[in-house]
Formats: sequence, C-alpha cells, structure tokens
Amino acid sequence: MSKQKLTSISSLGEFGLIDRLTNAWPVYQKSTFKAMGDDAAVIDFGKEQTIVSTDILTEGVHFDLAYTPLKHLGYKAVVVNLSDIVAMNAQPTQILVSIAVSARTSVEALDELYLGIKEACKTYQVDLVGGDTTSSKSGLFISITAIGKALPNDLVYRKGAKINDLICVTGNLGAAYMGLQLLIREKEVFAVNPNSQPDLSQWDYIIERQLKPETPINLRKKLNDMGVKPSSMIDISDGLSSEILHICQQSNLGCRIYEEKIPIHEQTIKFGYEIKVDASIAAMNGGEDYEILFTVPMTDFETIKRYPEIQIIGHMVEADKQCALVARDGTNLILEAQGFNHASSVS
Ligand code: ADP
Ligand code: MG
Repeated sequence: MSKQKLTSISSLGEFGLIDRLTNAWPVYQKSTFKAMGDDAAVIDFGKEQTIVSTDILTEGVHFDLAYTPLKHLGYKAVVVNLSDIVAMNAQPTQILVSIAVSARTSVEALDELYLGIKEACKTYQVDLVGGDTTSSKSGLFISITAIGKALPNDLVYRKGAKINDLICVTGNLGAAYMGLQLLIREKEVFAVNPNSQPDLSQWDYIIERQLKPETPINLRKKLNDMGVKPSSMIDISDGLSSEILHICQQSNLGCRIYEEKIPIHEQTIKFGYEIKVDASIAAMNGGEDYEILFTVPMTDFETIKRYPEIQIIGHMVEADKQCALVARDGTNLILEAQGFNHASSVS
C-alpha cells in the first residue's frame, strides 16, 4: 500500500466532492442537452423512444473490495447497466450514478471509482448526466441508471421468439464465474499466507471477465448491417439457463440448447478442471457474462453462420416440449430457473 495521505470526504463537503468527481466531464452524445449542475438533466431524442434501466451494486453482496480494484468496479458498474440497454437492441446514451459512501471511503478511492466510470463512458460513448451522493452506515453502494434510445420498430423484447427460431449468443460464457472462483480462492490463500505471491498470468482472461467485463455494444449495428432483425433478446447476467427460460416463458415456447454448441473459452475449461467444476455448468448457471442471448428466424442461418463472434446454440420448440439442454451424450436435461437438473430428463 502507498503511504499517500488520504483525504476525508467531510473535508471536501458534498458539493466539493461532486464537483471534484464530475468536473469537466466529456460529452459524447448530441441528445445530452443539459448534464450535471441543475436540478435535473435534459435529454432530447427527437423521434426516438427512450429506454431506461437501473441497477444497484452493494458492497459485500455484488463486490468485495478485497480483490476488486475501485477503477474496475466503476467500469463494471457502468457495463452491467449498459448491457440492459443493449439487450433491448437500443443504443445507450446517458447514465446517472448514485453513490452512498461510508466514513472509511476516502476521496482518493472515489477518484478511482470515477476514473473507471469515465473510462467506460469513453469506451461506450455515453454521457454522465447526473446522480446523487449520500452517506452510508456500512459499506459502499453504487446505483446506476442507464438511458438509451431506439426507433420504435428497432426495439427487441424478450417475448417475440417463434417456433424454430435459432437461439444465438455473443462471445463466450462461464468465464466470469470461473474468474470469481479464482479470486475467492486467492483471497483465502492470502488470508492464511499474506506473503504468497501467486502467478495469476495464466488466468488473465477469466480474471478480466470477472473484474472488467464488456458487453457487445456493436451487436445492434452488426445485425442491422446483416439485415437481421432478432425476434427476442436478453442480456446474460444470471447464466444462460435462467435467461433462456425468460425468453421461453415470455414467448410461450420451449427450447433445445445443445451443450456442445455453447461457446466456452479455453481458460474457463482449464480452470474448471482445476477446481472440478464443469465449464458447461458455469456457462448455464454462473452469470455475470453480460453477453447477449437472442433469437432469429431460421432463414437467417447462413447469414449468422458467417460471424464467428455469434454462436448458434439451439432453437425454439413448442411449449409442450419443454425447455431442455441436450447434453453431449444426447440426453435432454430439463432447464430450471437455477440451472438444470441432472435427475430429470425428457425425450
Ligand atoms: P439535489 O440536491 O437536487 O439532489 P445534488 O446537490 O445532489 O442536487 O446534485 C447536484 C448535481 O450534481 C445534480 O446535477 C446531480 O445530478 C449531480 N450529482 C450529484 N451526485 C452525483 C454523482 N455521484 N455523480 C454524478 N453526478 C452527481
Ligand atoms: Mg442529491
């Protein structure tokens, strides 16, 4: 740890703190008419519809500051929210950031948090347009509201999937879960032996997926360029199993997902071997991938196949055929809200 003297929030005061954190913040979007500084922000989308979503991150529940650098936390808090806008097939444009901080949080720590928020704003070209700052008796809370825009016809909901539609997923799944297991393990090792200096470079990918995830912001444009309009869409925050069930329930259909088709990174598989956790289970039940799951008409098969970053993992079926994962040995495992059940099978 550096010996740098830390500044208390009380020495700056609430307004001094807000000013320090948000001073000279860049603006990327034309629709940002008025950002911080008044009682409310003003956004002008003209003919487009406004998409809004919010999420809260709680210390000790959603993040552990023992292994989460604050800069990454700020970045991740933004991405987690933008993925909900991306999952509507909309373009994220603005965010509001509200924080509740305890007395043990220094101004320098919040500087780091906001550096991460700023970096995410740059990567995703969104504007910070407001928020709130308050104190907390225990721990740090970060609540982010994301705003986006879309033409009404471009929006994609969870409910539009049709029988025989192809089920597609971006990127790969299960890595963030494995990254978390690794970080938890290292925290325990460190608690027993503070002098341990593990070489984690071979696990760089899964660690990054946990600490600094990305969401496929270019998917909307890519699909549009291909001439593909998805019939349903959702972001993968809770694991593939629970997300596909949302699409099935809202579309009144069943599904078949093929285990062998689920995209999984080699580090996810390798670390899975090490801790004896099946990589497919991490993909189905793990969560925090922030990739996008969507369905397209079967006629788009040849078009989608040309894009290696999109994987076709299954298809929609009649509701009475249920929702199932087709395992590598050909058995059907019924999907449940918290993953899949090895004990039950259907034909
Ligand atoms: P109010 O008293 O109306 O809640 P504040 O003093 O809390 O106003 O906020 C002043 C301005 O700073 C507002 O534009 C608000 O949106 C913005 N703001 C406050 N806290 C934050 C924060 N943590 N991050 C970004 N903007 C903030
Ligand atoms: Mg306020």
